[in-house]
Amino acid sequence: MRPIVATISKSALQHNLSVVKQHAPYSKIMAVVKANGYGHGLLNVANGLSAADGFAVLGISEAIILREAGFKQTILLLEGVFCADELKVVADYNIDIVVHSRVQLDMLLSAELSKPVHVHLKMNSGMNRLGFTTDQYVAVFSQLKSSSNVADITFMTHFATADKDPGIEIPLALFQQTIKGLEQPVSMANSATILRYPNLQADWVRPGIMLYGASTVSSMPAAAFDLKPVMQLSSEIIAVQSIQAGESIGYGNRFTATKTTRIGVVACGYADGYPRHAGLLGSQHPHGAPIAVSGKVTRTLGRVSMDMLFCDITDIPEADIGSPVELWGKQVPVDTVAEAADTVGYELLCAVSPRVQIKVVD
Ligand SMILES: *Cc1c(COP(=O)(O)O)cnc(C)c1O
Repeated sequence: MRPIVATISKSALQHNLSVVKQHAPYSKIMAVVKANGYGHGLLNVANGLSAADGFAVLGISEAIILREAGFKQTILLLEGVFCADELKVVADYNIDIVVHSRVQLDMLLSAELSKPVHVHLKMNSGMNRLGFTTDQYVAVFSQLKSSSNVADITFMTHFATADKDPGIEIPLALFQQTIKGLEQPVSMANSATILRYPNLQADWVRPGIMLYGASTVSSMPAAAFDLKPVMQLSSEIIAVQSIQAGESIGYGNRFTATKTTRIGVVACGYADGYPRHAGLLGSQHPHGAPIAVSGKVTRTLGRVSMDMLFCDITDIPEADIGSPVELWGKQVPVDTVAEAADTVGYELLCAVSPRVQIKVVD
């Protein structure tokens, strides 16, 4: 068996959920498990987060998988339904839906359903992605309220700039002004909002990335909030090369040694989800991405290939074929690899490919 494994820690999920609870003690927690649980496996994370009050996903098939696995919590479709047929399924399975557009509103108002459905009415508070504008919002609310297809309504919005300044003050004020006097539960707050605005009053918060122990921006490292990485992506050295000054490695000869260098070849490449350009950005003399070999942090070298990558083991003489490698995890935060690839931890976690075996541990 190829040695690359994504090990998923159930206790880290439980721990991170408790960190959310500390920051939002009066809110219900809608654990965002879209994108196959941010790449960790939908059911793996749902099991680890079974104490959450709800789960948010994108596709109706993910919602059904959760229901059929026995989860009784609220399950929300973050983009709502994509066609009228899905509304019948939603009603049958007791799945909550976002309503964010006229098209969805009309579908819902004209549907014939076995039961009324739970609606999360999305407001566009300035992100300009999904949702009704503030001047449409209350009228849409009234229409939904008088429909026999609607069981109840939660007010929902999403912030674009929770992780930096200016923060959420302006969109939050817009949201609150618009719904003033209307007594409905409120849903807001992704991870960055939860961490930066702990006094926010919300009936529901919607953490995603923090549950997986990663951060939204490098200025807020996950460890600073006592979040624990849930995924360790690990593999092994499968070959060792010793090269002399002037010799190069890999496609395009992107690394040339200036002294005698010991190179470890790791069974992990971009087809496993490792970012191809990690460590090669913006420099003629690439500095590599962090990687740990035999428990010691070193750096990648040269260009990542489809199935393998190179790292510097000159100063790790004990490293040899079979030595353990951490691509990311406790020793090498996923966010540091993401930074070396000019992206965010979210993208790396979600991109772990199906050929990587997933192992769940307590
Ligand atoms: C993905 C998503 C979240 C979770 O965001 P994180 O930054 O991962 O915490 C919350 N709300 C909505 C609407 C989302 O799409």
